[in-house]
Amino acid sequence: MNTPDSRRVRDLVYETLASEGRAPSVAELARRTRSTTEATQKILHELAEAHALVLTADGDAVRMAHPFTAAPMAFVVTPLDGHDDRRWWGGCAWDSFGISAALDLDVRIDTACPQCGTPIAYQAGPRLPPPAELAVRFPRPAGEWWDDVVATCTMIRTFCDRGHAERWTADNAPGGGYIAEAATVWRLAGPWYGDRLDPGFQPHSREHNQRLLDECGLTGPFWRLP
Ligand SMILES: [Zn+2]
Ligand SMILES: [Zn+2]
Repeated sequence: MNTPDSRRVRDLVYETLASEGRAPSVAELARRTRSTTEATQKILHELAEAHALVLTADGDAVRMAHPFTAAPMAFVVTPLDGHDDRRWWGGCAWDSFGISAALDLDVRIDTACPQCGTPIAYQAGPRLPPPAELAVRFPRPAGEWWDDVVATCTMIRTFCDRGHAERWTADNAPGGGYIAEAATVWRLAGPWYGDRLDPGFQPHSREHNQRLLDECGLTGPFWRLP
């Protein structure tokens, strides 16, 4: 995002995901920025290097631009306003709250509990916290999130309650991960993602984001950002 061109590409990716729930193609980005596909591809790789977005494994398409994802994942985010027919895939429990925060929108979030398979639907919004009983499990420490961020998001899931998250952990990853209240993750998603669509958005510093985690009580080695 260091140049006006890369800023424009980044903003177009976010605008398209926000308004249409899909990522623009490289050719589309090139056309809309009056550039070449080669130059656009180079910018996308630079943005990915800077963690401003995530490309597909083959590197030729946008896979995620947090909190948005271009491909189906475990969460569907739907506006509570029935006249608003936009829909988004939520990359994870946290990102689903992040979409609500970035769009300043009350939403319904649909997913399923990984332990019991029961569908879970809940509402959340900028001023509307999710139900108190829901739990969110983070699979790996903050220092490892970006080792494979798509895999990380894939595993940040909502469970019926803490008991189901604990049982899932005991059966699948004994001693691993961190179980938080969904309301804590919701509280974190506000300031973490709320400014992503702002015209003047600037990436948060590591210190800034560490403070956001601290303020939600997410402290200790597990939550230390790299
Ligand atoms: Zn369950
Ligand atoms: Zn995520």
